[in-house]
Amino acid sequence: DSHGREEARGGDGCEVCKPTVGSVIASLAPTVGASGYVLDGEQAALQDTNDHFLANLQRNGSYSIVPRIPGGEITPEKLIVIGEVARDFGLYTKITGGQRIDLFGARVDQLPLIWTRLVDAGFESGHAYGKSLRTVKSCVGQTWCRYGVQDSVKMAIDLELRYRGLRSPHKLKSAVSGCARECAEARGKDFGIIATAQGWNLYVGGNGGATPRHADLLAQDLSDAELVRLIDRFLMFYIRTADRLERTSAWLERIDGGLDHVRDVVVHDSLGLCDELERLMADHVAGYRDEWAETINDPERLRRFVTFVNAPDAPDPSVRFVPERDQIKPDLELLAGPVLAVRTLEGTAS
Ligand code: SF4
Repeated sequence: DSHGREEARGGDGCEVCKPTVGSVIASLAPTVGASGYVLDGEQAALQDTNDHFLANLQRNGSYSIVPRIPGGEITPEKLIVIGEVARDFGLYTKITGGQRIDLFGARVDQLPLIWTRLVDAGFESGHAYGKSLRTVKSCVGQTWCRYGVQDSVKMAIDLELRYRGLRSPHKLKSAVSGCARECAEARGKDFGIIATAQGWNLYVGGNGGATPRHADLLAQDLSDAELVRLIDRFLMFYIRTADRLERTSAWLERIDGGLDHVRDVVVHDSLGLCDELERLMADHVAGYRDEWAETINDPERLRRFVTFVNAPDAPDPSVRFVPERDQIKPDLELLAGPVLAVRTLEGTAS
Protein backbone atom coordinates (compact mmCIF):
# COMPACT_ATOMS: atom_id res chain seq x y z
CA ASP A 1 0.00 0.00 0.00
CA SER A 2 2.99 2.36 0.04
CA HIS A 3 3.18 2.54 -3.77
CA GLY A 4 1.13 4.25 -6.44
CA ARG A 5 -1.64 6.80 -6.31
CA GLU A 6 -3.35 7.24 -2.95
CA GLU A 7 -6.82 6.68 -4.38
CA ALA A 8 -5.69 3.32 -5.85
CA ARG A 9 -4.58 1.94 -2.47
CA GLY A 10 -6.62 -0.17 -0.12
CA GLY A 11 -6.14 -3.87 -0.79
CA ASP A 12 -7.03 -4.30 -4.46
CA GLY A 13 -3.53 -3.39 -5.62
CA CYS A 14 -2.20 -0.13 -7.04
CA GLU A 15 -0.75 0.38 -10.52
CA VAL A 16 2.72 -0.64 -9.22
CA CYS A 17 1.91 -3.66 -7.04
CA LYS A 18 -0.78 -5.19 -9.25
CA PRO A 19 1.34 -5.78 -12.37
CA THR A 20 4.23 -6.80 -10.10
CA VAL A 21 2.13 -9.55 -8.53
CA GLY A 22 0.91 -10.54 -12.01
CA SER A 23 4.52 -10.74 -13.21
CA VAL A 24 5.70 -12.72 -10.17
CA ILE A 25 2.88 -15.27 -10.50
CA ALA A 26 3.44 -15.61 -14.26
CA SER A 27 7.18 -16.10 -13.67
CA LEU A 28 6.69 -18.68 -10.94
CA ALA A 29 3.97 -20.69 -12.71
CA PRO A 30 3.66 -23.65 -12.65
CA THR A 31 5.83 -23.89 -9.49
CA VAL A 32 3.24 -22.03 -7.38
CA GLY A 33 0.32 -23.98 -8.78
CA ALA A 34 -0.77 -21.17 -11.13
CA SER A 35 -1.73 -21.81 -14.72
CA GLY A 36 0.90 -20.94 -17.30
CA TYR A 37 -1.88 -19.10 -19.19
CA VAL A 38 -1.76 -15.46 -18.03
CA LEU A 39 -5.48 -14.81 -18.60
CA ASP A 40 -6.71 -17.68 -16.43
CA GLY A 41 -8.94 -16.91 -13.44
CA GLU A 42 -7.78 -14.15 -11.13
CA GLN A 43 -4.48 -13.83 -13.01
CA ALA A 44 -6.33 -12.07 -15.83
CA ALA A 45 -7.19 -9.03 -13.70
CA LEU A 46 -3.51 -8.56 -12.83
CA GLN A 47 -2.29 -8.14 -16.42
CA ASP A 48 -1.71 -4.76 -17.98
CA THR A 49 -3.17 -3.79 -21.36
CA ASN A 50 -0.74 -5.62 -23.63
CA ASP A 51 -0.82 -8.93 -21.72
CA HIS A 52 -4.55 -8.49 -21.26
CA PHE A 53 -5.11 -8.78 -25.01
CA LEU A 54 -1.97 -10.78 -25.93
CA ALA A 55 -1.06 -8.00 -28.39
CA ASN A 56 0.59 -4.56 -28.33
CA LEU A 57 -1.63 -1.51 -27.91
CA GLN A 58 -0.75 1.29 -30.35
CA ARG A 59 -1.47 5.03 -30.21
CA ASN A 60 -4.91 5.00 -31.86
CA GLY A 61 -6.31 2.11 -29.84
CA SER A 62 -5.47 -0.52 -32.45
CA TYR A 63 -3.17 -3.46 -31.74
CA SER A 64 -0.09 -4.93 -33.37
CA ILE A 65 0.65 -8.61 -33.73
CA VAL A 66 4.03 -10.33 -33.86
CA PRO A 67 4.13 -14.04 -34.70
CA ARG A 68 7.19 -15.95 -33.50
CA ILE A 69 9.84 -16.46 -36.19
CA PRO A 70 12.48 -18.50 -34.30
CA GLY A 71 16.02 -17.37 -35.05
CA GLY A 72 14.65 -15.11 -37.79
CA GLU A 73 14.40 -18.09 -40.16
CA ILE A 74 11.20 -18.36 -42.21
CA THR A 75 10.09 -20.31 -45.27
CA PRO A 76 8.71 -18.60 -48.38
CA GLU A 77 5.34 -20.29 -47.69
CA LYS A 78 5.12 -18.77 -44.23
CA LEU A 79 6.21 -15.37 -45.52
CA ILE A 80 3.37 -15.54 -48.03
CA VAL A 81 0.88 -16.39 -45.26
CA ILE A 82 1.94 -13.31 -43.29
CA GLY A 83 1.56 -11.21 -46.43
CA GLU A 84 -1.88 -12.65 -47.16
CA VAL A 85 -3.08 -12.09 -43.59
CA ALA A 86 -1.82 -8.50 -43.65
CA ARG A 87 -3.47 -7.87 -47.03
CA ASP A 88 -6.80 -9.47 -46.06
CA PHE A 89 -7.08 -7.51 -42.81
CA GLY A 90 -5.56 -4.31 -44.23
CA LEU A 91 -2.66 -4.28 -41.75
CA TYR A 92 0.54 -2.22 -41.85
CA THR A 93 3.64 -4.43 -41.97
CA LYS A 94 7.14 -3.64 -40.76
CA ILE A 95 10.28 -5.72 -40.22
CA THR A 96 11.38 -5.47 -36.58
CA GLY A 97 14.88 -5.21 -35.15
CA GLY A 98 14.42 -8.72 -33.72
CA GLN A 99 14.16 -10.36 -37.16
CA ARG A 100 10.38 -10.72 -37.19
CA ILE A 101 7.43 -9.07 -38.89
CA ASP A 102 5.06 -6.80 -36.98
CA LEU A 103 1.45 -6.46 -38.21
CA PHE A 104 -0.12 -3.15 -37.11
CA GLY A 105 -3.65 -1.80 -37.14
CA ALA A 106 -5.82 -4.66 -35.86
CA ARG A 107 -9.00 -3.88 -33.94
CA VAL A 108 -9.41 -5.84 -30.72
CA ASP A 109 -12.27 -7.87 -32.24
CA GLN A 110 -10.03 -8.85 -35.17
CA LEU A 111 -7.27 -10.30 -32.98
CA PRO A 112 -8.71 -13.85 -32.65
CA LEU A 113 -9.52 -13.97 -36.39
CA ILE A 114 -5.96 -12.99 -37.28
CA TRP A 115 -4.46 -15.43 -34.74
CA THR A 116 -6.60 -18.23 -36.16
CA ARG A 117 -5.17 -17.67 -39.64
CA LEU A 118 -1.63 -17.52 -38.27
CA VAL A 119 -1.98 -20.54 -35.94
CA ASP A 120 -3.50 -22.60 -38.77
CA ALA A 121 -0.37 -21.85 -40.80
CA GLY A 122 1.93 -23.02 -37.98
CA PHE A 123 2.67 -19.71 -36.27
CA GLU A 124 2.36 -18.99 -32.56
CA SER A 125 2.54 -15.97 -30.29
CA GLY A 126 5.87 -14.15 -30.39
CA HIS A 127 5.20 -12.69 -26.91
CA ALA A 128 6.04 -9.18 -28.15
CA TYR A 129 3.54 -7.93 -25.56
CA GLY A 130 4.96 -9.70 -22.50
CA LYS A 131 7.75 -9.31 -19.98
CA SER A 132 9.20 -12.49 -21.36
CA LEU A 133 11.57 -13.85 -23.98
CA ARG A 134 11.19 -11.85 -27.18
CA THR A 135 13.58 -13.10 -29.86
CA VAL A 136 16.84 -14.92 -30.38
CA LYS A 137 18.36 -13.22 -33.44
CA SER A 138 20.98 -14.97 -35.52
CA CYS A 139 23.34 -14.42 -38.41
CA VAL A 140 23.44 -17.09 -41.12
CA GLY A 141 26.53 -18.65 -39.52
CA GLN A 142 28.67 -21.50 -40.76
CA THR A 143 25.99 -22.84 -43.12
CA TRP A 144 26.24 -19.93 -45.55
CA CYS A 145 28.89 -17.51 -44.36
CA ARG A 146 32.54 -18.14 -45.30
CA TYR A 147 33.70 -16.88 -41.90
CA GLY A 148 31.31 -18.89 -39.73
CA VAL A 149 32.68 -21.48 -37.29
CA GLN A 150 29.38 -22.79 -35.80
CA ASP A 151 25.73 -23.20 -36.86
CA SER A 152 24.37 -20.03 -35.27
CA VAL A 153 20.89 -20.34 -36.84
CA LYS A 154 20.24 -23.79 -35.39
CA MET A 155 21.46 -22.69 -31.97
CA ALA A 156 19.24 -19.57 -32.08
CA ILE A 157 16.18 -21.61 -33.05
CA ASP A 158 16.87 -24.20 -30.32
CA LEU A 159 17.25 -21.47 -27.69
CA GLU A 160 14.17 -19.52 -28.80
CA LEU A 161 11.99 -22.64 -28.72
CA ARG A 162 13.39 -23.60 -25.30
CA TYR A 163 12.79 -20.24 -23.61
CA ARG A 164 9.65 -19.07 -25.49
CA GLY A 165 6.92 -17.98 -23.12
CA LEU A 166 9.33 -17.60 -20.18
CA ARG A 167 7.90 -14.76 -18.08
CA SER A 168 10.49 -12.61 -16.29
CA PRO A 169 10.89 -9.29 -14.41
CA HIS A 170 11.47 -7.55 -17.75
CA LYS A 171 11.73 -8.48 -21.42
CA LEU A 172 14.54 -10.82 -22.44
CA LYS A 173 16.41 -10.57 -25.72
CA SER A 174 19.09 -12.80 -27.16
CA ALA A 175 21.19 -13.34 -30.27
CA VAL A 176 23.70 -15.84 -31.66
CA SER A 177 26.63 -14.89 -33.91
CA GLY A 178 28.48 -17.48 -35.98
CA CYS A 179 31.93 -15.97 -35.43
CA ALA A 180 33.75 -13.16 -33.65
CA ARG A 181 32.68 -10.63 -36.31
CA GLU A 182 29.40 -10.51 -34.33
CA CYS A 183 26.91 -9.67 -37.07
CA ALA A 184 23.95 -10.66 -34.83
CA GLU A 185 24.98 -8.06 -32.20
CA ALA A 186 24.84 -10.66 -29.43
CA ARG A 187 26.66 -8.46 -26.94
CA GLY A 188 23.76 -6.04 -26.98
CA LYS A 189 21.44 -8.70 -25.55
CA ASP A 190 20.44 -10.03 -22.14
CA PHE A 191 22.16 -13.26 -23.07
CA GLY A 192 24.29 -13.34 -26.18
CA ILE A 193 26.23 -16.17 -27.73
CA ILE A 194 29.25 -15.89 -30.01
CA ALA A 195 30.72 -18.93 -31.76
CA THR A 196 34.36 -19.91 -31.29
CA ALA A 197 36.38 -22.63 -33.00
CA GLN A 198 35.92 -24.70 -29.82
CA GLY A 199 32.22 -24.02 -29.15
CA TRP A 200 30.38 -21.01 -27.78
CA ASN A 201 31.14 -17.96 -25.62
CA LEU A 202 28.24 -16.83 -23.42
CA TYR A 203 27.80 -13.12 -22.64
CA VAL A 204 25.21 -11.77 -20.20
CA GLY A 205 23.71 -8.46 -19.13
CA GLY A 206 23.71 -6.52 -22.39
CA ASN A 207 21.02 -4.27 -23.81
CA GLY A 208 20.41 -1.40 -26.20
CA GLY A 209 17.78 1.22 -25.46
CA ALA A 210 18.27 4.38 -23.44
CA THR A 211 21.18 2.99 -21.42
CA PRO A 212 23.15 0.78 -23.78
CA ARG A 213 25.48 -1.77 -22.25
CA HIS A 214 27.69 -4.41 -23.75
CA ALA A 215 27.20 -7.87 -22.24
CA ASP A 216 29.98 -9.39 -20.10
CA LEU A 217 31.67 -12.72 -20.80
CA LEU A 218 30.29 -15.32 -18.38
CA ALA A 219 31.96 -18.46 -19.74
CA GLN A 220 33.83 -19.50 -22.88
CA ASP A 221 34.30 -22.40 -25.30
CA LEU A 222 31.18 -24.19 -24.10
CA SER A 223 29.69 -27.26 -25.77
CA ASP A 224 26.04 -27.08 -26.90
CA ALA A 225 24.87 -28.88 -23.75
CA GLU A 226 27.06 -26.79 -21.43
CA LEU A 227 25.77 -23.60 -23.04
CA VAL A 228 22.10 -24.52 -22.60
CA ARG A 229 22.62 -25.65 -19.00
CA LEU A 230 24.36 -22.40 -18.12
CA ILE A 231 21.66 -20.25 -19.75
CA ASP A 232 18.99 -22.26 -17.88
CA ARG A 233 20.68 -21.49 -14.58
CA PHE A 234 21.42 -17.85 -15.43
CA LEU A 235 17.86 -17.04 -16.48
CA MET A 236 16.23 -18.75 -13.51
CA PHE A 237 18.63 -17.09 -11.06
CA TYR A 238 17.84 -13.70 -12.64
CA ILE A 239 14.08 -14.29 -12.62
CA ARG A 240 14.13 -15.20 -8.93
CA THR A 241 16.39 -12.42 -7.68
CA ALA A 242 15.78 -9.37 -9.91
CA ASP A 243 13.51 -6.52 -8.89
CA ARG A 244 10.36 -5.68 -10.88
CA LEU A 245 11.10 -4.18 -14.30
CA GLU A 246 14.83 -4.72 -13.79
CA ARG A 247 16.68 -5.75 -16.97
CA THR A 248 19.59 -8.17 -16.64
CA SER A 249 22.04 -5.28 -17.17
CA ALA A 250 20.75 -3.30 -14.16
CA TRP A 251 20.43 -6.48 -12.10
CA LEU A 252 24.08 -7.47 -12.79
CA GLU A 253 25.26 -4.05 -11.67
CA ARG A 254 23.04 -3.98 -8.56
CA ILE A 255 23.46 -7.47 -7.20
CA ASP A 256 26.12 -7.92 -4.46
CA GLY A 257 29.34 -9.21 -6.03
CA GLY A 258 28.11 -8.45 -9.57
CA LEU A 259 29.25 -10.66 -12.41
CA ASP A 260 31.73 -12.61 -10.24
CA HIS A 261 28.96 -13.58 -7.81
CA VAL A 262 26.63 -14.61 -10.63
CA ARG A 263 29.43 -16.68 -12.15
CA ASP A 264 30.07 -18.34 -8.75
CA VAL A 265 26.38 -19.21 -8.42
CA VAL A 266 25.58 -20.44 -11.94
CA VAL A 267 28.96 -21.86 -13.02
CA HIS A 268 30.55 -23.03 -9.74
CA ASP A 269 27.26 -23.71 -7.88
CA SER A 270 28.48 -21.78 -4.80
CA LEU A 271 24.96 -21.69 -3.30
CA GLY A 272 24.02 -25.26 -4.19
CA LEU A 273 21.10 -23.94 -6.28
CA CYS A 274 21.97 -25.25 -9.73
CA ASP A 275 19.93 -28.47 -9.59
CA GLU A 276 16.87 -26.50 -8.55
CA LEU A 277 17.41 -23.81 -11.21
CA GLU A 278 17.72 -26.48 -13.91
CA ARG A 279 14.61 -28.29 -12.64
CA LEU A 280 12.61 -25.05 -12.70
CA MET A 281 13.61 -24.45 -16.32
CA ALA A 282 12.76 -28.05 -17.23
CA ASP A 283 9.28 -27.45 -15.71
CA HIS A 284 8.88 -24.33 -17.82
CA VAL A 285 9.90 -26.09 -21.02
CA ALA A 286 7.56 -29.03 -20.33
CA GLY A 287 4.64 -26.74 -19.45
CA TYR A 288 4.86 -24.34 -22.41
CA ARG A 289 1.63 -23.74 -24.34
CA ASP A 290 0.91 -21.20 -27.06
CA GLU A 291 -1.31 -18.45 -25.62
CA TRP A 292 -2.93 -17.61 -28.97
CA ALA A 293 -3.95 -21.22 -29.62
CA GLU A 294 -5.17 -21.54 -26.02
CA THR A 295 -7.35 -18.49 -26.56
CA ILE A 296 -8.90 -19.18 -29.96
CA ASN A 297 -9.86 -22.70 -28.90
CA ASP A 298 -11.86 -21.53 -25.88
CA PRO A 299 -15.16 -19.62 -26.41
CA GLU A 300 -15.09 -18.33 -22.83
CA ARG A 301 -11.64 -16.80 -23.30
CA LEU A 302 -12.71 -15.25 -26.62
CA ARG A 303 -15.44 -13.23 -24.90
CA ARG A 304 -12.95 -10.55 -23.79
CA PHE A 305 -12.00 -9.63 -27.38
CA VAL A 306 -14.75 -7.12 -28.01
CA THR A 307 -14.75 -3.32 -27.94
CA PHE A 308 -18.18 -3.00 -26.31
CA VAL A 309 -19.39 -5.77 -23.97
CA ASN A 310 -23.02 -4.76 -24.59
CA ALA A 311 -22.55 -4.74 -28.39
CA PRO A 312 -19.93 -7.42 -29.07
CA ASP A 313 -20.34 -7.27 -32.86
CA ALA A 314 -19.77 -3.51 -33.06
CA PRO A 315 -16.25 -2.45 -34.06
CA ASP A 316 -14.57 0.54 -32.43
CA PRO A 317 -15.58 3.54 -34.61
CA SER A 318 -12.63 5.62 -33.36
CA VAL A 319 -10.03 3.24 -34.82
CA ARG A 320 -9.53 4.82 -38.24
CA PHE A 321 -6.65 4.92 -40.67
CA VAL A 322 -5.41 7.00 -43.58
CA PRO A 323 -3.05 5.92 -46.38
CA GLU A 324 0.71 6.49 -46.33
CA ARG A 325 3.39 4.99 -48.61
CA ASP A 326 1.00 2.32 -49.95
CA GLN A 327 0.00 1.18 -46.44
CA ILE A 328 -2.11 2.53 -43.58
CA LYS A 329 -1.29 4.73 -40.61
CA PRO A 330 -3.43 5.98 -37.69
CA ASP A 331 -5.70 8.88 -38.54
CA LEU A 332 -3.86 11.51 -36.50
CA GLU A 333 -6.48 14.22 -37.12
CA LEU A 334 -9.11 11.97 -35.60
CA LEU A 335 -6.78 11.32 -32.68
CA ALA A 336 -6.23 15.06 -32.14
CA GLY A 337 -10.00 15.56 -31.97
CA PRO A 338 -12.05 18.47 -33.33
CA VAL A 339 -10.70 22.01 -33.06
CA LEU A 340 -13.21 24.07 -31.07
CA ALA A 341 -13.62 27.80 -31.63
CA VAL A 342 -12.97 29.79 -28.43
CA ARG A 343 -15.26 32.73 -27.79
CA THR A 344 -13.83 36.01 -26.48
CA LEU A 345 -15.65 38.15 -23.94
CA GLU A 346 -17.03 40.20 -26.81
CA GLY A 347 -18.60 37.05 -28.25
CA THR A 348 -16.31 36.84 -31.29
CA ALA A 349 -14.46 33.68 -32.13
CA SER A 350 -10.64 33.80 -31.93
S1 SF4 B 1 29.05 -13.15 -37.46
FE1 SF4 B 1 30.59 -14.26 -38.63
S2 SF4 B 1 29.49 -16.05 -39.35
FE2 SF4 B 1 27.96 -14.59 -38.78
S3 SF4 B 1 27.47 -13.50 -40.69
FE3 SF4 B 1 29.00 -12.32 -39.55
S4 SF4 B 1 30.94 -12.93 -40.43
FE4 SF4 B 1 29.43 -14.52 -40.98
